[in-house]
Amino acid sequence: MSFIKFLGTAGARFVVMKQLRASGGVWLSVGKTNLYIDPGPGALVRCLNSKPKLEPSTLDGILLTHKHLDHSGDVNAMIEAMTEGGFKKKGVLFAPRDALEEDPVVLKYVGDYVERVEVLRENSAYRIGDIRFSTARKHQHRVETYGLNFDLSPHTLSFIIDTKFFPELPNLYRGEILVIHVVRQKPIGEDPIDHLSIEDVKSILKIVKPRLTILTHFGMTMIKAKPWVVAAELEKELGLKVIAASDGMKLNLEEV
Ligand SMILES: [Zn+2]
Repeated sequence: MSFIKFLGTAGARFVVMKQLRASGGVWLSVGKTNLYIDPGPGALVRCLNSKPKLEPSTLDGILLTHKHLDHSGDVNAMIEAMTEGGFKKKGVLFAPRDALEEDPVVLKYVGDYVERVEVLRENSAYRIGDIRFSTARKHQHRVETYGLNFDLSPHTLSFIIDTKFFPELPNLYRGEILVIHVVRQKPIGEDPIDHLSIEDVKSILKIVKPRLTILTHFGMTMIKAKPWVVAAELEKELGLKVIAASDGMKLNLEEV
């Protein structure tokens, strides 16, 4: 069974630091392959407390879309868990170069536990077991950041990770299932952090028209506006299926 499970839906600093939502990232399972995306603070605990339990030693890889803390806080703990305390050298770590080299978020001795490290670059294709994915161009975010397009035939699944909106953005992520990181309900003038708002999401959905859109990575304004209410309003306005992720939500990809 192929599935994605949200072990966190928090985005940006306040929701993460207060743990108003969990910040564990996403577990993706396709065929026999398990990939962990963005192990933010609490990822290890959320895996082990998950029902049924998600066992980190069954992971084949860990992927960082970028090095910000809400995406990488537990990366070292998760690598250690994947490799059974470092005693079993295995797995692949995918990360942008700046997460590994300048002010790195992966400790050197922990990085040595993985079998190989693959540096994420623009417009590149990657494969790990049964999972194939590609990056598009670099996002407009303060650190090197990539979104992801998964080819999970028969389905395509895209993740629009943190970014400022730019005109080409919708066309880079044409997955039938589209996961969007939407931090803000309303745009703010000069956003120093570069995140998407619901207005940006509307612009994206009008072009991409995904079969299913999943909103996640919520900041304070989204939490206050109740993400499920915002999703229902979008669904009504656009005539497309839109849901808001909740902590622990699991989606069976064969049933979508
Ligand atoms: Zn983020």
